[in-house]
Amino acid sequence: MTFKELGLAEPILKALEAEGYTHPTPIQEQSIPILLQGKDLLGVAQTGTGKTAAFGIPILHQLYEGISLRQTKRKVKALIVTPTRELAIQISESLTAYGKHTGLRNTVIFGGVKQGKQVNALRGGVDILVATPGRLLDLMNQGFISFRDLEHVVLDEADQMLDMGFIHDIKKIIAKLPPKRQSLFFSATMPKDIVELSRKMLGDFERVTIKPEQATAEKVEQGVYFVSKANKPKLLIHLIKENPENTLIVFSRTKHGANKIVKKLDQAGIRSAAIHGNKSQTARQKALSAFKEGDLKVLVATDIAARGIDVEDLSLVVNYDLPNVSETYVHRIGRTGRANASGIALSFCDKEERAYLRDIEKLIKQSVPRMPEHQFVDADTPSDDQPMPPKKKQGNSRNKNRNRPGGNNFRGKNNRNTSRPKKRNDSSRSE
Ligand code: AMP
Repeated sequence: MTFKELGLAEPILKALEAEGYTHPTPIQEQSIPILLQGKDLLGVAQTGTGKTAAFGIPILHQLYEGISLRQTKRKVKALIVTPTRELAIQISESLTAYGKHTGLRNTVIFGGVKQGKQVNALRGGVDILVATPGRLLDLMNQGFISFRDLEHVVLDEADQMLDMGFIHDIKKIIAKLPPKRQSLFFSATMPKDIVELSRKMLGDFERVTIKPEQATAEKVEQGVYFVSKANKPKLLIHLIKENPENTLIVFSRTKHGANKIVKKLDQAGIRSAAIHGNKSQTARQKALSAFKEGDLKVLVATDIAARGIDVEDLSLVVNYDLPNVSETYVHRIGRTGRANASGIALSFCDKEERAYLRDIEKLIKQSVPRMPEHQFVDADTPSDDQPMPPKKKQGNSRNKNRNRPGGNNFRGKNNRNTSRPKKRNDSSRSE
């Protein structure tokens, strides 16, 4: 299947070609035909699957086809609501790229910055509006936005919106949209509240599911180090120093934890930056740009801030803390291995996180391969189900260093020849 076979308008095909997209990803292949028929859609999929283009392309196509009907002043005909500023900016950039030959205009609005510029952009007229819920509702209430001409609405990352407490804002926004519209609803997971919300929002819909375990199992190589809390910084520093060419995102469960990691790395002479909710929008954008440009190799992020971050050539994701919500693990490791690329995700698991690891393995229906023993093991580190190499005789210093992570580097994009995370029943025993 090619994009041409999906029957898309020529200007869109031209833009996709320029983007280097040759074939639709599974979610695109399944969703685009449904959406081109004007039907509603429930998409169960995470970012990294090509979701943005799956909804963006058919919306652009339909708006482009209806262009001759358009009145002189542009009116908002499509609305995309997404939880974070980073994600909103990214969606807007993708729409600009896919729609660059269509003459359609989009703009993005989000909180944390002054509203003046956003209001001016709206006054100038836009076809597609990408927004985070809080600022959207605010500007709607101030009378800056009219949805009288709205034809398409997308609710993106619905489960994340729920986690972030946006559910009431979302309900208020939906209540103000014209009932005759095409509605798209995307969520990585479908807890009860989300199912209810989707029922309220969608009419007669079709469902497309891209299983997270497919995405993780197929594309991302995984590994877990058992390491005590106290030794996590040392192991991280060691991994970074052993693989200086690689770009990596380090995930921390808390904002405070993220700041602490940056400090530890700084003390070790490694430049990094944290992005999380307590950082200003400007600081977050600056860190993200430096990271995307390759000026900064290490980004330390909390889950919410990192949702939707799309960085090409991201070699490695490190789960410095294991998430207590298993789905979050899938989101995190999806930062690497975007679209058709492969990636590596390494997790640090301390004694208290063992239960989280078990939950994650249950969700992804596979065991995360255990990384070989490393020099930062200490008394706090459980090692019951590691593929322990045979016990070395005491005082055998040659063997001591054999299983250090440095000798078992992850295979980064610039480091193809180093060894992979070992499978649980892999034969590190035979050494
Ligand atoms: P998304 O899930 O929308 O965040 O997309 C993940 C990444 O996949 C982005 O970097 C897109 O540019 C890329 N992408 C989306 N669709 C395709 C495609 N058909 N071929 C190649 N890359 C794609």
